Amino acid sequence: MLSKKICMLGAFAVGKTSLVKQYVHSIFNEKYHTTIGVKIDKRLVSINDQPIQLILWDIEGVDIFTELNPSYLRGASGYILVIDGTRPQTLETAREIMGQLQLNLNERKLILLINKSDLKNKWLINDSQLSELMIKEEDIFITSAKTGQRVEQAFQHIAELIAPITCYQADQHEYTSNR
Ligand code: GDP
Ligand code: MG
Repeated sequence: MLSKKICMLGAFAVGKTSLVKQYVHSIFNEKYHTTIGVKIDKRLVSINDQPIQLILWDIEGVDIFTELNPSYLRGASGYILVIDGTRPQTLETAREIMGQLQLNLNERKLILLINKSDLKNKWLINDSQLSELMIKEEDIFITSAKTGQRVEQAFQHIAELIAPITCYQADQHEYTSNR
């Protein structure tokens, strides 16, 4: 079966681990555990009737952003960049991460999650700050790992972005190609 690596990226405590837990196990835990190193979770999705195993790499975030480890990124088909809607400085980290990805990759399949939408009374990110990241609106999701809001849709969207396109030749023999 086809499997695709997806990297969770973003500053410390934005909710990367919580989002993966919500998506894969439908659970949320208020208790805070720092992810040490890298954790890998899997979920099977179906895109155009084709099963794809998503291999979700949950990478440790750091407060003061240092360089991304190339071995974490190697072989990744897509990226889920997460910011915390209540902490504008996490947008800064996202900007730095985007800069590093641009240097390393010629094709980027990336979505942006603005997480903790259940805390909208403390929301501190505005549209003009977001637009600086140059991410298409359709690739931006306002999520809550706590309530599960838009989590399923966000992961489904990245899966669709990285799924191979199924093409049909004139003689109707089906073939797939990686886009
Ligand atoms: P990570 O460092 O990016 O992996 O962040 P975690 O997933 O460990 O989450 C950091 C803290 O934020 C934890 O205390 C979580 O319970 C909390 N958290 C994560 N997502 C949400 C969310 O959507 N809403 C709320 N209210 N808290 C969240
Ligand atoms: Mg974590």
